[in-house]
Amino acid sequence: MIRRSGREWQDVGTPAGPKLFGGRRSARPYQPLDSASRYSYLRFVVKILVIGSGGREHALTWKLRQSPQAERIFCAPGNVGTGEVAENVTIPVSDLKALVSFAKENRVDLTVVGPDDPLAAGIIDLFTSEKLRAFGPNKSAARIESSKIFAKELMRTQKIPTAEARTFSNSSEALHYCERLEFPIVIKADGLALGKGVVIAADAAMARSTIDGMMNQGRFGDAGRRIVIEEFLHGTECSLHVLVDRRNYVLLESARDHKRALDADQGPNTGGMGAFSPASNWNSKLQSRFDSEIMRPLLRGLIQEDVTFQGLLYPGLMITSDGPRVLEFNCRFGDPETQTLLPRMKSDLLPLLEATIDGKIERCAIEWDTRAAVTVVLASGGYPGKYESGKSISGLDQAGKLEDVQIFHAGTKRDGSEVKTAGGRVLAVTALGSTLEAARARAYEAVSRIHFENCHYRRDIALNAIGANVT
Ligand code: ATP
Repeated sequence: MIRRSGREWQDVGTPAGPKLFGGRRSARPYQPLDSASRYSYLRFVVKILVIGSGGREHALTWKLRQSPQAERIFCAPGNVGTGEVAENVTIPVSDLKALVSFAKENRVDLTVVGPDDPLAAGIIDLFTSEKLRAFGPNKSAARIESSKIFAKELMRTQKIPTAEARTFSNSSEALHYCERLEFPIVIKADGLALGKGVVIAADAAMARSTIDGMMNQGRFGDAGRRIVIEEFLHGTECSLHVLVDRRNYVLLESARDHKRALDADQGPNTGGMGAFSPASNWNSKLQSRFDSEIMRPLLRGLIQEDVTFQGLLYPGLMITSDGPRVLEFNCRFGDPETQTLLPRMKSDLLPLLEATIDGKIERCAIEWDTRAAVTVVLASGGYPGKYESGKSISGLDQAGKLEDVQIFHAGTKRDGSEVKTAGGRVLAVTALGSTLEAARARAYEAVSRIHFENCHYRRDIALNAIGANVT
């Protein structure tokens, strides 16, 4: 654990790691990368800083730890899981200046930003202005997630298939517009609203109260002052992840997540209660349409707008009877999709991130485990509403010993020899299997060994997709 003392950062007792190096990059000799990466860019070992504290950041840190080029990894602020594979640093993700200072003082070679908020706040611009390498889009490019209006406008000009939509900055006009629509409709706050800024309004009364709440009552602060009203799309959802280096991209494996809190997609939306990969509704035909109708026009549009997107783009799609439609663009790895995707990735993640920053992603191919992955999220009872923290967690060791099972921490903290709950989403349990059914059975077996008071998880993760081929 690294704590700040005066102006200096001090190591106060983490797993023994190599000493800090004097130069920007250490002098350990180049080691060949696995052949699948086909991108032998990294010639030296590197020090890495991962920013964030959720299951996504544990999965990123866990995967980067496996890279022969990763010498030392810090995670700010991290959680119990990241503390087992890296050195946690007590700096909040919102303290951009402290993060820059830490990276400078510790000669960090590469910073990987997990959550959307620091990206929207311009953390990449700040790091770049200090000549620090950082993975993620700059502030201008992060608008693709932080402003739904910006994303919609881009899609409109490039004719990217998405729901028909109109944007409003005046509530009376928005209310008037709703009178002409067939319900349900979808109302979206323009800015970031912790995944709660999208409301599916079943009727006019709900539309009225939603618009009033967002635009007049400031329910989401400035994020809801402008809104998008769009048509409701029917279909099944799919999460895609692409590494974009401005001009080119590589597609990661497909995944699906489960956003609602309760089985059978009931209850409120959450940050994600589970995921699986590959997505049962994705195929090569859709992939080719995704390339020609979505990704190529998008990259062209960004360049035309003079926006340099380098980082991870995660388009959320609705697969309709007319083909894929974009629901939203996210500009960072998904959570919990990352926890389900990275255990399937056989290639080294580090050279892929470096190639993205250097505009050389087209040279990369990613090798994947052909097995399926299922991730079940264990949450505190009451989440996404009010919940209690500080519950002792047991069974982590027994569950983690199961073959092809990986437990990613999210809201956890250490208390003496115990691990306790410290958030809404507590753990993400991922298992691999030759079929989705096998992966699912193993994931739930692991889940059954973990206990904490008021633990809540969905019993139907990947259930509807069982029987789908894993190819
Ligand atoms: P996230 O928390 O993933 O960032 P968000 O708040 O940015 O989500 P969206 O992903 O745009 O919002 O929408 C949230 C969910 O609302 C989608 O996963 C989808 O289930 C539903 N949704 C959004 N737009 C539409 C639409 N046009 N038609 C039908 N459902 C939609």
